Amino acid sequence: MKRMLITAGPTHEAIDAVRYIGNRSSGRMGIALAEAARDAGWDVTLLLGPVASSPPCGVQVERFTSANDLSNLLSKHFADCDVLVMAAAVADFRPISLGTGKIERGRETLTLQLQPTPDLVAGCSSSKKPGQKIIGFALEVSARLDERAAQKLRIKKLDAIVANPIETLDSPRIAAKVLTPDGRVYAPPSGTSIDKSQFAAWLISWITTELP
Ligand code: C5P
Repeated sequence: MKRMLITAGPTHEAIDAVRYIGNRSSGRMGIALAEAARDAGWDVTLLLGPVASSPPCGVQVERFTSANDLSNLLSKHFADCDVLVMAAAVADFRPISLGTGKIERGRETLTLQLQPTPDLVAGCSSSKKPGQKIIGFALEVSARLDERAAQKLRIKKLDAIVANPIETLDSPRIAAKVLTPDGRVYAPPSGTSIDKSQFAAWLISWITTELP
């Protein structure tokens, strides 16, 4: 049975013992992908961030909180998968110095210093074995969707990228397409926004039968 590794949900980066910064991501798309892949006969491992939704049954689940946790889980699981679908909304920046306690109120302003997180999917691309495939996601404003997605596809050395308009965030529906390095564009037949579970079924079938 072929193995698919899917990441889903946001990362939370600690500011102090109780606060964090993170991305607004419901994890719905990645969870729907895990269900669709399971139903299509893949052996699925889902790396799931801090989201309220319950993970699906019939897939192996590991939870993460921060980009650092997710990095450790990718180190553990990536080598064994045939396909990685990186749907997680990894925070691009994290606070530099994290207090061990709780920052007190009562000050006029508070300045947070942030440092970039490592690009995890690009790290996986650089250690990819022959035959392994990596699919990323790019959430962008509609006006620059294709241009920015194509740029990320190239820079991160992905096999495909799901170009996802920002309106998808928190929505049960999605109007996305898939770009590949040969310049081709694939989309579900409906052409308009569809339920995330329908898009997931289409994407998994595309990965199974058409991913170049
Ligand atoms: O945040 P960005 O638009 O660059 O995300 C594009 C892709 O890169 C997504 O698949 C995301 O999961 C991945 N990513 C990552 N590590 C980061 C930021 C993004 O793997 N630090």
